[in-house]
Amino acid sequence: MIPTPAYAAPEAKAPLAPTVIERREPGPHDVLIDIRYCGVCHSDLHQVQDEWGGARYPMVPGHEIVGTVSRVGAAVTKWQVGDTVGVGCLVDSCRECEACKAGEEQFCERGSTGTYNSLERDRKTPTYGGYSRRITVDENFVVRVPESIPLDQAAPLLCAGITTYSPMRHFGVKAGDRVAVVGLGGLGHMGVKLAKAMGAHVTVLSHSPSKREDAMRLGADDFVATGEADAFKRNARRFDFILDTVSAEHDYNSYLNLLRRDGTMVLVGLPEAMPLDASSLIMGRRRLAGSLIGGIRETQEMLDFCAEHGVGADVEVISMDAINAAYARMLKSDVRYRFVIDLATLS
Ligand code: NAP
Ligand code: ZN
Ligand code: ZN
Repeated sequence: MIPTPAYAAPEAKAPLAPTVIERREPGPHDVLIDIRYCGVCHSDLHQVQDEWGGARYPMVPGHEIVGTVSRVGAAVTKWQVGDTVGVGCLVDSCRECEACKAGEEQFCERGSTGTYNSLERDRKTPTYGGYSRRITVDENFVVRVPESIPLDQAAPLLCAGITTYSPMRHFGVKAGDRVAVVGLGGLGHMGVKLAKAMGAHVTVLSHSPSKREDAMRLGADDFVATGEADAFKRNARRFDFILDTVSAEHDYNSYLNLLRRDGTMVLVGLPEAMPLDASSLIMGRRRLAGSLIGGIRETQEMLDFCAEHGVGADVEVISMDAINAAYARMLKSDVRYRFVIDLATLS
């Protein structure tokens, strides 16, 4: 076992504090990664607070991991010591079911193994995430980080990037489409950049009027402050595709009414349950869908797309001991636009 400094939540809703965890010695197909940066996703906060139920403690969050391979198992063929790599939300899956065979490991029918707050395939060993100095991962759940993307800006791509890229690809967003991104946070700002790189006309819908300038700087063509009295009336039937990244309760129906005929709204934000009015879908033959991160192959495709289009996240790099303050800011929608932990600050 490899003792590894980490930050963990000892129990639900408790602040994170320093600890030491054990990483396994790399098996034949494992690589050991020295973690350089880890992004801070709103899902980390939902899970630390046990908002989705069934959380396991102590919990070491973090699933936007980039670092350097420092050791490889005897049978590893894909990676060498010194490679710059990433690990996202998944570290294993059954590899045999229909979803796994299709390269959609996130939908593994036997349950994929999450990077943290999950169990290894033995169904006993807890997994611990990227708020730590190193991690041991199967070589098949590791992706290559293109050299041209600065490493701190690459970390958020492993969750925020793939979660916004995958539904836009799956539902066929194309040049000229009118795309709305709801919520300008970690996911939302990646959604703007990626939709723009795909050639769409992009509008940000935000409940924070102060984000207008940032939205335009990030590449949006238009900005709608959703708190304005006539915002929903003025933009009715305007969009082909809406990507909803909001982490808190809001009215789906008012957003669905912003879709054109045959338009699609995809939920990626995961707040508590909210009511849906069938007429919001029936009128206009609209579609409402959801999407969960993306598979390993698509995550690599997304990283290569980002390199090709010069896309990285806008980050605020923080030290490990600033994590609790960062969570407090995240709760106030005050993230510009992803916190990224520099793991060199954790000893
Ligand atoms: P984030 O950085 O905190 O951004 C969320 C944004 O939602 C905020 O910046 C804010 O944007 C908006 N928002 C917050 N409270 C709101 C309210 N009361 N009313 C309206 N809008 C509000 O979070 P994130 O990391 O992007 O994650 C967003 C959500 O996606 C979370 O629920 C997370 O768990 C989920 N997620 C899902 C997947 C998946 O695979 N489906 C993957 C990762 C994360 P404005 O200030 O612009 O309104
Ligand atoms: Zn995430
Ligand atoms: Zn499977």
